[in-house]
Amino acid sequence: MGRKTWLIVIAVFIVIIILVLLFTKFGKMLINKTWDLISDARIATLHPSIRAKAAQFLNEAEKKGYNLRVTSAYRSINEQSDLYNKYLSGGPLAAKPGESYHNFGLAFDVVETEPYGFGEGYPQNRWTEIGKIGKKLGFTWGGDWLGEKHDRPHFQYSYGFTTAQLRDRINLGKNLGQYPEISKA
Ligand SMILES: [Zn+2]
Repeated sequence: MGRKTWLIVIAVFIVIIILVLLFTKFGKMLINKTWDLISDARIATLHPSIRAKAAQFLNEAEKKGYNLRVTSAYRSINEQSDLYNKYLSGGPLAAKPGESYHNFGLAFDVVETEPYGFGEGYPQNRWTEIGKIGKKLGFTWGGDWLGEKHDRPHFQYSYGFTTAQLRDRINLGKNLGQYPEISKA
């Protein structure tokens, strides 16, 4: 083949790669890639508007020596009901169905993987640093909430909406599938 033909082949190839990255689920996962495949799959369930930011959070934490795993991201109303029922019978605190930002894909939970893991004896200063990294990217951190609501693994991005307002938007048809539209209009 001539030089011109080769250039056309290469150009077409590049365009195909760009289209795959931008418009396929696989490509979007590659763009929002972190050190951890499990976290990547969970980030892919978040509201499309915060996926890149969530991946950036994990990547910046990793650079600073915190290997975070996303343990929970989007939750359907049914999944939230299960958690809430468990809470009512003595389990960990969970919001009522529709009252958690997880139900709109706008919240996720993280824990640091081994050797630190999560649980009794986990160094508080590591959580404080992880919280700082998330807050710098604009997330609200559950570790800043006091009393029963204190929730260090939890990060959310509300866009200034209450969960009631987000539910209203979905009910009014201002939604993208299971996610509310978050533009102010
Ligand atoms: Zn949470």
